[in-house]
Amino acid sequence: MTRTPPLERITRCRGCQRDALEDLIGFGTAPIADHLRHPEDQSPEYAAPLTLAHCPHCGLCQIRETVEPRVLFGPDYPYFSSVSPALMAYFRASAEDLIAARNLGPDSLVIEAASNDGYMLSVFHEAGIGVLGIDPADGPVKVAQARGIDTRHAFFGADLGAELAGQNRRADVFLANNVLAHVADTNDFVAGISAVLADTGLAVIEFPYLLNMLDIAAFDTIYHQHLLYLALTPLLPLFARHGLHINDVVLTKIHGGTARIFASKTPGQSDALRQLLAEETRRGIKTRALYGEFLAHLEQMKTQTHAALAALRAQGKSLAGYGAAAKSTTLLHYLGLGRDEIAFILDKSPHKQGLQMPVTGIPIRPPEALKDSGIDHVLILAWNFAREIVAENPEFLQAGGQFFVPIPDFRTYSTAPESASI
Ligand SMILES: [Zn+2]
Repeated sequence: MTRTPPLERITRCRGCQRDALEDLIGFGTAPIADHLRHPEDQSPEYAAPLTLAHCPHCGLCQIRETVEPRVLFGPDYPYFSSVSPALMAYFRASAEDLIAARNLGPDSLVIEAASNDGYMLSVFHEAGIGVLGIDPADGPVKVAQARGIDTRHAFFGADLGAELAGQNRRADVFLANNVLAHVADTNDFVAGISAVLADTGLAVIEFPYLLNMLDIAAFDTIYHQHLLYLALTPLLPLFARHGLHINDVVLTKIHGGTARIFASKTPGQSDALRQLLAEETRRGIKTRALYGEFLAHLEQMKTQTHAALAALRAQGKSLAGYGAAAKSTTLLHYLGLGRDEIAFILDKSPHKQGLQMPVTGIPIRPPEALKDSGIDHVLILAWNFAREIVAENPEFLQAGGQFFVPIPDFRTYSTAPESASI
C-alpha cells in the first residue's frame, strides 16, 4: 500500500519562472527513490507522480513534482559519501587542487552545502583550513560532527547565506556537490551562494551534466530528489540574476558524467565554457528535439530487457539485482520489476544490507550472498560500476552465471572483463 506525500506540481520554470513548461515523459506514480525500508516496517510507503519537463525559454530540464524535502531527505537518508573509495579519492584530489590553486590557509574558510558526512571538508580541515558544513540529514551530520567537522544541521538557502554573511563568515571557497539539482527553490539557493561568497571567493559546484545523461540514456537519475537536469545555458542567466558569473567548466566522468562549474563575482568566460555553450546551442538545448533520441532509446532498452528476462523465465532461471542505489528504484519502476522477477539485490553498503527496496520490498543483501544462492543471472542496476562488479565475481561467471547491464545499451556478460571487451 502506498500514500502520496505532500507535493506541489509546478507550472512555472524553476529557473526563469516563465509559465511555459512542456512535458517530455511521464513515469507514472514512482516510489521515493532513497526510501529503503526495514522489513518489519508495515506503514504505508510514499509514491508520487514523476514527470520530466523542459522550458523552451531558458532550456532548463526539470521535473514538475516537488515532493516536500523533509519527506525526501528525512532522518533515515541512507547515503554516506565516505562509503565509495572511488568517490573518496575523487573528492580528496579535488580538495587538494583547490587548496593549492586558491592558496588556502588557516585564515581561509571553506563552506560546503550538502556536506554529508564531511568527507571532502575533512581534507581541508586536516590541512588546518577553516571549514563549515551544512546538511539537512541527521545521520551524516552526526558522523561529520564526530570527526570534528563543524556542521550546521540545516538546508542551505538565501536566509542561511545572509545569516552567515552577517556573522562575517564569508566563504573563500563555497562547495556544492550534487545538491543544486535537489533544491526546489533554485533561485533562493543561488542567492544564498551570492550572499555567503567572499568578493574574491570561488564557488565550485558539481552536478550531473544533462548532455551526458541524454547521451548514455542514464534516465535512472530521474527521480523526485533530482528536480533539475542541468546544462550550462540555463544556468548562466540564473546565476547572473544573483550577481554571480559562471567563469569555467570541467567535465568529469564521475557518476556517469559530471559538470564542475566555477563561479565568482568577477565576469569572464574560459574557452572551455564558451565551447560547451556553443555545443549546447548546436544540440538545440532549448528545443524538444534535444530529447528525441534519448526517449527512443528508453523504449528500446525496456523492450530488450523485457525480452531477455522473458527468456530467462521460460528457462526457469532465477534473477538477482546488483546495486541498491536511488537510481535503481527508477530503473526497476520503469521496467516494472518487483519481487516476482528479482529475488534480492546485492549491495556493498552495510547501511543498506538487510533493508528492502521501496514499494517492491526486494530485499538487499551483501555481495557475498550471491555465492551458493542458486542465482544464475544478475541484472546490474549500478551499471556505472558494471566493469568492477563483473571483475569481482569470476567464480560466478565460471559456474555459468551471467550479468545483464541495461544502460547505456542492453548487454550480457558471461565471461570476465579480461577476456571480454567491455
Ligand atoms: Zn525557464
